[in-house]
Amino acid sequence: MADFFTKIGSAVTEAANKASQNVKDLSDQNKLNNEIGTLRAKKEKLLRDMGQLVYNFIKKGGESPNYNAIISQMDEIDARIEELEKKIAVIKGNGLCPCCNAVIAPGDIFCPNCGFRVGQP
Ligand SMILES: [Zn+2]
Repeated sequence: MADFFTKIGSAVTEAANKASQNVKDLSDQNKLNNEIGTLRAKKEKLLRDMGQLVYNFIKKGGESPNYNAIISQMDEIDARIEELEKKIAVIKGNGLCPCCNAVIAPGDIFCPNCGFRVGQP
């Protein structure tokens, strides 16, 4: 009988741990999604700034504007968004390719990006 209660007890503990892990996963996902939203808004603003520079240049002429700073900021934002999207994919139960770091779905045998063998048939 003691064994029965021990089993019930550990099943309850396991269920509680799983539930609290799910809550933590959801809150982590929300944080990551919020950061992605903020980054996308920043990128939109950079695109508008660049559009304004192009407009001014076409309209008023003068020296061709330098877009490099804006483009490198957008590149950094894209890289960070990709990183965050991978974290979300991992929370959702996907893996990452040990070769190229692409997202691997459960059950994939080969990496969809580089073809590296990641599972058994
Ligand atoms: Zn790969």
